[in-house]
Amino acid sequence: MSVVVVGGGMAGAACASALAGHGIEVTLVDRHDYSQFQPLLYQVASSQLPAEDIARPLRTMFRDRSEVTVVTGEVVAVDVEAKTVTTDAGTVGPADQLVIAAGARPNFFGVPGAAEHAIPLYSVRDAERLRRHLRDRLRGLGSPEGGGALTIVVCGGGATGVEISGALAELLQALRDEGRLAAPASVRLVDLGHALLAPFTDRSHRYALDKLTAMGVEVTFGVAVTSVDAGSATLSDGSSVVTDTVIWAGGISGASLVDLTGIPAGRGGRIDVARDLTVPGHPGVFAVGDVANVPDAAGGTLPQLGSVAQQSGAWAGKNVRAQRDGAALAPFHYHDKGIMAMIGRNTAVAEVGPHRHQLEGPFAFAAWLGLHGVLMSGFHDRVDAVMNWADDYLHHARAADLELEDSVGRIAWADDDADRPDLGPR
Ligand SMILES: Cc1cc2nc3c(=O)[nH]c(=O)nc-3n(C[C@H](O)[C@H](O)[C@H](O)COP(=O)(O)OP(=O)(O)OC[C@H]3O[C@@H](n4cnc5c(N)ncnc54)[C@H](O)[C@@H]3O)c2cc1C
Repeated sequence: MSVVVVGGGMAGAACASALAGHGIEVTLVDRHDYSQFQPLLYQVASSQLPAEDIARPLRTMFRDRSEVTVVTGEVVAVDVEAKTVTTDAGTVGPADQLVIAAGARPNFFGVPGAAEHAIPLYSVRDAERLRRHLRDRLRGLGSPEGGGALTIVVCGGGATGVEISGALAELLQALRDEGRLAAPASVRLVDLGHALLAPFTDRSHRYALDKLTAMGVEVTFGVAVTSVDAGSATLSDGSSVVTDTVIWAGGISGASLVDLTGIPAGRGGRIDVARDLTVPGHPGVFAVGDVANVPDAAGGTLPQLGSVAQQSGAWAGKNVRAQRDGAALAPFHYHDKGIMAMIGRNTAVAEVGPHRHQLEGPFAFAAWLGLHGVLMSGFHDRVDAVMNWADDYLHHARAADLELEDSVGRIAWADDDADRPDLGPR
């Protein structure tokens, strides 16, 4: 049997791993030669980790899996009946089964200028772009060329908006303490709703707001960004903020690849799937992770989370094997480990397990680390390297550094230096 898996993120990589070693020929296709670990993107954007540490080459991940062939190329056409995908480098397939794991993309909700001028935080490239932009802005701050005060506007108070706001507030404070801010710099978070971290409980909403406010972040609720240009952001209350730095954490929709499949998009531009993760009406086609509306047992839809992506990817792999063996496909069962967000050093909230047991501060940070250790295990077998890095990050506040190649605070993966991800021009 042969299977094409489109997308080498958490879902696609988990699926390929579940298929490897079972006599199935797997072709894993991604536009990048690496898999990225999105939960640490804000660490890259805020100059706390270099991009290399959260992007792992797919060829390295699957180097001991001879049945898995990695193809690097932008998918430009998908034939779900023939199960072929065409990349800018040629056509892959036909295969017996197709697994779509193409993830998501930022949703700018049609806000004028947002796609052109705001910086999303969805990929390693976005994080690197934001880091370089902030590095240049902060270095030039107060100089005639560099401009005056810097107001960073963060659009959206979900986990991404809260985590990046906290990390940037910490960075600015560290630079201020070292006397390296030549002009005022601040973070302003705006959200159309009335709470931070909406899917969490009220207690966590208050905790996140108190902590971010104490870190100096100005939070405004009930307000949306209505347009963005090169030097300002306009808000729905009619006010305007002078800024050249708008971070878009306003939401996501299914990857643009959905449009190539001919499958009608469901809610959020994602592919609706049955409980067994197959795409109704398209035999032999599965969709998993952020690209799919993955049903839960109660008839709702699971959120776009790493644990959903990883578990659904592995489950699809098991169901592909069942199909090959003539067995019945099993409905996906999600093991809910909870939701969590890291606001800053030792400042986190976690609601653990299906009953949402609440944790704050160092305990929540420990829970965050445990869950992310599990997610990381799909990315690298040296999970201890992440634990060491996290311990170091927590207990040794480092001098603020805007350039990170040789930083001592890196994750010590100890992979072959030659086996680095191709992150494109820097
Ligand atoms: C900033 C941020 C922080 C997050 N933090 C957390 C967290 O703390 N905990 C948690 O559980 N979850 C978190 N998430 C969510 C989690 O990271 C995602 O749910 C998960 O990574 C989705 O995995 P995926 O494999 O479905 O998609 P992705 O990881 O996005 O993988 C999709 C892959 O498909 C490839 N692809 C797409 N289109 C094409 C094409 N046309 N051609 C070729 N390749 C293509 C992409 O290059 C990509 O590698 C976070 C997400 C973000 C953005």
